[in-house]
Amino acid sequence: MIKKRLYLGLLAGAMVLFAALSCYLWLSFFQHDLGFVRYLIFFAVLIILGGLAVIIVGFAGIIFSLLSEHDFAWLQKPINFTVSILYPVVIWIGRMCKIAQEKIQSSFVEVNNQLIKAKRGKLSPDRLLVLLPHCLQITDCTKRITVTTDNCARCGRCPVGGILNLCDSYGCHVQIATGGTLARDAVKKLRPQAVVAVACERDLTSGILDCIPLPVLGVTNLRPHGPCFNTQVNLLEVENALRFFTA
Ligand code: SF4
Repeated sequence: MIKKRLYLGLLAGAMVLFAALSCYLWLSFFQHDLGFVRYLIFFAVLIILGGLAVIIVGFAGIIFSLLSEHDFAWLQKPINFTVSILYPVVIWIGRMCKIAQEKIQSSFVEVNNQLIKAKRGKLSPDRLLVLLPHCLQITDCTKRITVTTDNCARCGRCPVGGILNLCDSYGCHVQIATGGTLARDAVKKLRPQAVVAVACERDLTSGILDCIPLPVLGVTNLRPHGPCFNTQVNLLEVENALRFFTA
C-alpha cells in the first residue's frame, strides 16, 4: 500500500488544485461585471464544476475499489476520466515536490494493476494480447522477432523464448513492439479485451493511459544493464498476469 500512496496522495493534491481553481473562477464570476462575457464564463464554470463532480466520484471510486478489492462497473467511466485528466497535474505536482517521475509512474502502475485485479470475469485466451518490448531480446541475437515471433529459436539466451512458450501454452496473442506506435497498431489490429504489457514504468504508464478503457495489466521489466538494453522480466509475474485473465 505504501507504494500506492504516492500516486493516490498526488492524485488527491491534483483534485484539490482543480477544486481551488473552480472556486476561484466561480468567485471571480460573481465579483466582476463583465457584460455579455459573463454568460460565457458562467457556462465555462458550469462545465468545470461538472468536471470536478465527476473527478470527485472517480477518486472515491478508486479508493473504494482498492479498499474493497471489488470492481464497481458504474464507477468505471468516472475513474477513467479522473485518471486520464489528472495525470499531467499529478506529474506536475510531483515535479514541484522534486519526486522522481519514475517513482510516481511505478506507483501509478501499482494502483492500475490493483484496480484491474478488482475486476472479475474470465477471458477467452485469444482475446488476450501480450505486448513485449524489443529490449528483452539480447542484443547479439540476429533473429528478426519484431516481424514475427516465429523467427525466435527459443534458445533460452533471453526471456523472449520463455514468454513465447508461456503464450503458446495459454493460447494468447503476443507482439514484440519497438515503440508505442507498433503497440497501438497491434491493439487496433487484434482488438483484444485485455492486455498484459511488459515494459519500463514510463512506457507502461503511457500505454495504460493510451489504452483506456481497455484493461492493461503492467509487468515492470528488470534493467540490470541500464535502460533499454538486454532487459529481463520475472516470468512468474508474466504467468500470474496471464492466469489472472484466463483462469
Ligand atoms: S530466445 Fe534466443 S532466438 Fe529468441 S530472441 Fe532470445 S536470443 Fe534470440
